[in-house]
Amino acid sequence: MSAELPCWEVFALRYATVARRRLEMFINHDLHDGPQAMDYFVWLLRRGDDLILVDTGFNASMAAQRGREFLRCPIGSLAGAGIEPQAIRDVVITHAHYDHAGNLDLLPQARFHLQEREMQYATGRDMRQKMMRHAYCVDHVCSLVRLVFDDRVEYHDGDWALRAGVTVHLVGGHTRGLQVVRVHTARGWIVLASDAAHYLENFSARSPFPIVADVGDMLRGHDRLEALAESPAHVVPGHDPLVMSLYPRRGPPGLDLVSLSEMPGGAQDR
Ligand SMILES: [Zn+2]
Repeated sequence: MSAELPCWEVFALRYATVARRRLEMFINHDLHDGPQAMDYFVWLLRRGDDLILVDTGFNASMAAQRGREFLRCPIGSLAGAGIEPQAIRDVVITHAHYDHAGNLDLLPQARFHLQEREMQYATGRDMRQKMMRHAYCVDHVCSLVRLVFDDRVEYHDGDWALRAGVTVHLVGGHTRGLQVVRVHTARGWIVLASDAAHYLENFSARSPFPIVADVGDMLRGHDRLEALAESPAHVVPGHDPLVMSLYPRRGPPGLDLVSLSEMPGGAQDR
Protein backbone atom coordinates (compact mmCIF):
# COMPACT_ATOMS: atom_id res chain seq x y z
CA MET A 1 0.00 0.00 0.00
CA SER A 2 1.31 3.46 -0.87
CA ALA A 3 1.07 5.62 2.25
CA GLU A 4 1.18 8.91 0.33
CA LEU A 5 -1.87 8.06 -1.78
CA PRO A 6 -5.35 8.98 -0.57
CA CYS A 7 -7.66 6.15 0.48
CA TRP A 8 -11.09 6.02 -1.14
CA GLU A 9 -14.25 4.38 0.12
CA VAL A 10 -15.75 2.12 -2.53
CA PHE A 11 -19.27 0.70 -2.62
CA ALA A 12 -21.23 -1.67 -4.86
CA LEU A 13 -24.98 -1.10 -5.20
CA ARG A 14 -26.99 -4.04 -6.51
CA TYR A 15 -29.93 -2.82 -8.58
CA ALA A 16 -31.20 -5.90 -10.48
CA THR A 17 -30.88 -9.66 -10.68
CA VAL A 18 -31.88 -12.55 -12.91
CA ALA A 19 -32.01 -16.35 -12.55
CA ARG A 20 -29.87 -17.99 -15.23
CA ARG A 21 -27.93 -21.23 -15.73
CA ARG A 22 -24.26 -21.77 -15.11
CA LEU A 23 -23.69 -23.01 -18.64
CA GLU A 24 -24.52 -19.49 -19.88
CA MET A 25 -21.57 -18.00 -17.94
CA PHE A 26 -18.57 -19.90 -19.33
CA ILE A 27 -17.48 -20.63 -22.90
CA ASN A 28 -16.28 -24.04 -21.66
CA HIS A 29 -19.18 -25.49 -19.70
CA ASP A 30 -20.80 -28.73 -18.68
CA LEU A 31 -24.28 -29.33 -20.11
CA HIS A 32 -25.31 -30.62 -16.67
CA ASP A 33 -24.41 -27.35 -14.97
CA GLY A 34 -27.14 -26.03 -12.62
CA PRO A 35 -28.67 -22.65 -11.83
CA GLN A 36 -26.58 -19.49 -11.45
CA ALA A 37 -27.99 -16.05 -10.63
CA MET A 38 -26.60 -12.92 -12.25
CA ASP A 39 -26.60 -9.66 -10.29
CA TYR A 40 -26.34 -6.13 -11.70
CA PHE A 41 -24.35 -3.38 -9.97
CA VAL A 42 -23.16 0.19 -10.14
CA TRP A 43 -20.13 1.25 -8.10
CA LEU A 44 -19.51 4.42 -6.12
CA LEU A 45 -16.18 5.93 -5.03
CA ARG A 46 -16.20 8.50 -2.22
CA ARG A 47 -13.53 10.64 -0.61
CA GLY A 48 -15.06 13.41 1.51
CA ASP A 49 -17.52 15.15 -0.79
CA ASP A 50 -15.72 13.96 -3.93
CA LEU A 51 -17.94 11.34 -5.61
CA ILE A 52 -17.25 9.19 -8.65
CA LEU A 53 -19.80 6.82 -10.13
CA VAL A 54 -18.74 3.81 -12.18
CA ASP A 55 -21.48 2.78 -14.64
CA THR A 56 -25.12 3.80 -14.59
CA GLY A 57 -27.20 0.62 -14.96
CA PHE A 58 -30.59 0.35 -16.63
CA ASN A 59 -34.16 1.37 -15.76
CA ALA A 60 -37.43 -0.47 -15.04
CA SER A 61 -38.63 -0.53 -18.64
CA MET A 62 -35.33 -2.01 -19.86
CA ALA A 63 -35.61 -4.63 -17.10
CA ALA A 64 -39.11 -5.57 -18.29
CA GLN A 65 -37.95 -5.64 -21.91
CA ARG A 66 -35.04 -7.98 -21.13
CA GLY A 67 -36.73 -10.09 -18.42
CA ARG A 68 -34.56 -8.93 -15.50
CA GLU A 69 -35.85 -8.47 -11.94
CA PHE A 70 -35.50 -4.74 -11.22
CA LEU A 71 -34.77 -4.08 -7.55
CA ARG A 72 -34.26 -0.31 -7.49
CA CYS A 73 -33.17 2.65 -9.61
CA PRO A 74 -29.36 2.52 -9.49
CA ILE A 75 -29.14 6.33 -9.53
CA GLY A 76 -32.17 7.51 -7.52
CA SER A 77 -31.65 4.98 -4.74
CA LEU A 78 -28.19 6.41 -3.98
CA ALA A 79 -30.14 9.06 -2.06
CA GLY A 80 -30.87 6.33 0.51
CA ALA A 81 -27.14 6.35 1.25
CA GLY A 82 -27.10 10.15 1.48
CA ILE A 83 -25.82 10.74 -2.06
CA GLU A 84 -27.65 13.13 -4.36
CA PRO A 85 -27.18 12.39 -8.09
CA GLN A 86 -26.63 16.13 -8.71
CA ALA A 87 -23.47 15.93 -6.59
CA ILE A 88 -21.85 13.38 -8.94
CA ARG A 89 -19.50 15.18 -11.35
CA ASP A 90 -17.57 12.30 -12.87
CA VAL A 91 -18.95 9.02 -14.22
CA VAL A 92 -16.73 6.30 -15.65
CA ILE A 93 -18.57 4.19 -18.23
CA THR A 94 -16.67 0.88 -18.29
CA HIS A 95 -18.41 0.00 -21.58
CA ALA A 96 -21.68 0.96 -23.24
CA HIS A 97 -23.68 -2.29 -22.87
CA TYR A 98 -27.35 -1.83 -21.87
CA ASP A 99 -26.70 -2.79 -18.23
CA HIS A 100 -23.85 -0.28 -17.78
CA ALA A 101 -24.80 2.87 -19.70
CA GLY A 102 -28.49 3.71 -19.16
CA ASN A 103 -30.05 6.41 -16.98
CA LEU A 104 -27.70 9.11 -18.31
CA ASP A 105 -30.47 11.73 -18.08
CA LEU A 106 -30.57 11.22 -14.29
CA LEU A 107 -27.04 12.67 -13.92
CA PRO A 108 -27.44 16.25 -15.17
CA GLN A 109 -24.14 17.54 -13.71
CA ALA A 110 -21.91 14.67 -14.73
CA ARG A 111 -19.12 14.29 -17.25
CA PHE A 112 -18.91 10.80 -18.76
CA HIS A 113 -15.54 9.13 -19.28
CA LEU A 114 -15.22 6.35 -21.84
CA GLN A 115 -12.70 4.89 -24.19
CA GLU A 116 -12.84 6.32 -27.70
CA ARG A 117 -12.64 2.82 -29.11
CA GLU A 118 -15.77 1.81 -27.14
CA MET A 119 -17.76 4.43 -29.04
CA GLN A 120 -16.10 3.33 -32.29
CA TYR A 121 -17.14 -0.26 -31.56
CA ALA A 122 -20.70 0.67 -30.47
CA THR A 123 -21.28 2.68 -33.67
CA GLY A 124 -19.03 0.77 -36.05
CA ARG A 125 -19.27 -2.07 -38.53
CA ASP A 126 -19.63 -4.84 -35.93
CA MET A 127 -23.02 -3.40 -34.89
CA ARG A 128 -24.35 -4.56 -38.25
CA GLN A 129 -24.24 -8.04 -36.67
CA LYS A 130 -27.15 -8.91 -34.38
CA MET A 131 -24.92 -11.09 -32.20
CA MET A 132 -22.47 -8.23 -31.56
CA ARG A 133 -25.07 -5.54 -30.92
CA HIS A 134 -27.41 -7.65 -28.78
CA ALA A 135 -26.09 -6.29 -25.45
CA TYR A 136 -26.16 -2.67 -26.63
CA CYS A 137 -29.24 -0.45 -26.52
CA VAL A 138 -29.36 1.96 -29.47
CA ASP A 139 -31.04 4.63 -27.30
CA HIS A 140 -28.16 4.54 -24.81
CA VAL A 141 -25.62 4.83 -27.62
CA CYS A 142 -27.56 7.75 -29.14
CA SER A 143 -27.71 9.43 -25.70
CA LEU A 144 -23.92 9.16 -25.47
CA VAL A 145 -23.58 10.71 -28.93
CA ARG A 146 -25.81 13.61 -27.83
CA LEU A 147 -23.65 14.06 -24.73
CA VAL A 148 -20.57 14.31 -26.99
CA PHE A 149 -22.31 17.20 -28.76
CA ASP A 150 -23.06 18.76 -25.34
CA ASP A 151 -19.34 18.69 -24.37
CA ARG A 152 -20.05 16.21 -21.59
CA VAL A 153 -18.04 13.22 -22.81
CA GLU A 154 -14.34 12.80 -22.06
CA TYR A 155 -12.71 10.34 -24.45
CA HIS A 156 -9.71 8.29 -23.38
CA ASP A 157 -7.25 6.21 -25.36
CA GLY A 158 -5.68 3.52 -23.19
CA ASP A 159 -4.78 3.89 -19.51
CA TRP A 160 -5.45 7.16 -17.67
CA ALA A 161 -5.73 8.67 -14.19
CA LEU A 162 -8.95 10.26 -12.89
CA ARG A 163 -7.74 11.29 -9.43
CA ALA A 164 -4.87 10.52 -7.09
CA GLY A 165 -5.55 6.88 -6.21
CA VAL A 166 -7.99 6.28 -9.08
CA THR A 167 -6.64 4.95 -12.37
CA VAL A 168 -8.54 3.46 -15.30
CA HIS A 169 -7.20 0.77 -17.63
CA LEU A 170 -8.23 -0.35 -21.11
CA VAL A 171 -8.56 -4.14 -21.27
CA GLY A 172 -11.02 -4.80 -24.13
CA GLY A 173 -12.02 -8.42 -24.63
CA HIS A 174 -15.71 -8.39 -23.66
CA THR A 175 -16.12 -5.29 -25.85
CA ARG A 176 -13.39 -3.48 -27.82
CA GLY A 177 -13.28 -0.55 -25.41
CA LEU A 178 -13.91 -2.10 -21.98
CA GLN A 179 -12.02 -0.29 -19.21
CA VAL A 180 -11.56 -1.32 -15.55
CA VAL A 181 -11.13 0.96 -12.53
CA ARG A 182 -8.32 0.60 -9.98
CA VAL A 183 -8.86 2.35 -6.64
CA HIS A 184 -6.52 2.88 -3.72
CA THR A 185 -8.29 2.00 -0.46
CA ALA A 186 -7.45 1.34 3.19
CA ARG A 187 -6.89 -2.32 2.21
CA GLY A 188 -4.70 -1.47 -0.78
CA TRP A 189 -5.45 -1.35 -4.52
CA ILE A 190 -8.75 -2.92 -5.49
CA VAL A 191 -9.90 -3.37 -9.08
CA LEU A 192 -13.50 -2.96 -10.22
CA ALA A 193 -13.36 -5.51 -13.02
CA SER A 194 -16.82 -4.77 -14.44
CA ASP A 195 -17.25 -7.23 -17.31
CA ALA A 196 -13.57 -8.11 -17.56
CA ALA A 197 -14.72 -10.73 -14.99
CA HIS A 198 -18.49 -11.24 -14.68
CA TYR A 199 -17.87 -13.92 -12.04
CA LEU A 200 -14.84 -14.49 -9.84
CA GLU A 201 -14.53 -17.89 -11.49
CA ASN A 202 -14.24 -16.36 -14.98
CA PHE A 203 -11.10 -14.67 -13.64
CA SER A 204 -9.70 -17.27 -11.22
CA ALA A 205 -10.13 -20.20 -13.63
CA ARG A 206 -9.26 -18.10 -16.74
CA SER A 207 -12.60 -19.31 -18.12
CA PRO A 208 -14.08 -16.62 -20.40
CA PHE A 209 -17.68 -15.41 -20.37
CA PRO A 210 -19.42 -16.15 -23.70
CA ILE A 211 -20.26 -12.54 -24.69
CA VAL A 212 -16.88 -11.55 -26.08
CA ALA A 213 -15.44 -9.47 -28.91
CA ASP A 214 -11.91 -10.96 -28.61
CA VAL A 215 -11.16 -14.04 -26.49
CA GLY A 216 -7.39 -13.43 -26.47
CA ASP A 217 -7.90 -9.89 -25.17
CA MET A 218 -10.32 -11.20 -22.54
CA LEU A 219 -7.78 -13.75 -21.25
CA ARG A 220 -4.99 -11.15 -21.25
CA GLY A 221 -7.47 -8.92 -19.39
CA HIS A 222 -7.69 -11.53 -16.62
CA ASP A 223 -3.89 -11.39 -16.29
CA ARG A 224 -4.10 -7.60 -16.24
CA LEU A 225 -6.63 -7.67 -13.38
CA GLU A 226 -4.26 -9.81 -11.38
CA ALA A 227 -1.35 -7.47 -12.07
CA LEU A 228 -3.32 -4.34 -11.13
CA ALA A 229 -4.86 -5.62 -7.89
CA GLU A 230 -3.16 -5.92 -4.50
CA SER A 231 -4.09 -9.63 -4.54
CA PRO A 232 -6.64 -11.83 -6.35
CA ALA A 233 -9.01 -11.14 -3.42
CA HIS A 234 -8.89 -7.45 -4.39
CA VAL A 235 -10.55 -8.09 -7.78
CA VAL A 236 -14.28 -7.25 -7.69
CA PRO A 237 -16.28 -9.12 -10.34
CA GLY A 238 -18.96 -7.29 -12.30
CA HIS A 239 -22.03 -9.54 -11.96
CA ASP A 240 -21.26 -12.11 -9.26
CA PRO A 241 -23.84 -12.58 -6.44
CA LEU A 242 -20.84 -13.50 -4.24
CA VAL A 243 -20.16 -9.74 -3.93
CA MET A 244 -23.31 -9.38 -1.81
CA SER A 245 -22.29 -12.19 0.56
CA LEU A 246 -18.53 -11.53 0.74
CA TYR A 247 -18.55 -7.82 1.60
CA PRO A 248 -20.04 -5.99 4.62
CA ARG A 249 -23.40 -4.31 4.14
CA ARG A 250 -23.62 -0.54 4.54
CA GLY A 251 -26.36 2.08 4.35
CA PRO A 252 -29.99 1.58 5.35
CA PRO A 253 -31.43 -1.96 5.59
CA GLY A 254 -32.69 -3.27 2.28
CA LEU A 255 -30.56 -1.02 0.06
CA ASP A 256 -28.20 -3.82 -1.15
CA LEU A 257 -25.14 -1.61 -0.68
CA VAL A 258 -21.83 -3.26 0.29
CA SER A 259 -18.44 -1.77 1.14
CA LEU A 260 -15.63 -2.99 -1.13
CA SER A 261 -12.92 -0.97 0.58
CA GLU A 262 -13.27 -3.17 3.65
CA MET A 263 -12.04 -6.74 3.79
CA PRO A 264 -14.33 -9.39 2.32
CA GLY A 265 -15.77 -11.89 4.76
CA GLY A 266 -16.04 -9.21 7.45
CA ALA A 267 -12.50 -9.97 8.71
CA GLN A 268 -10.35 -6.88 9.16
CA ASP A 269 -6.99 -8.67 9.25
CA ARG A 270 -7.08 -10.86 6.13
ZN1 LIG B 1 -22.58 -6.31 -17.82
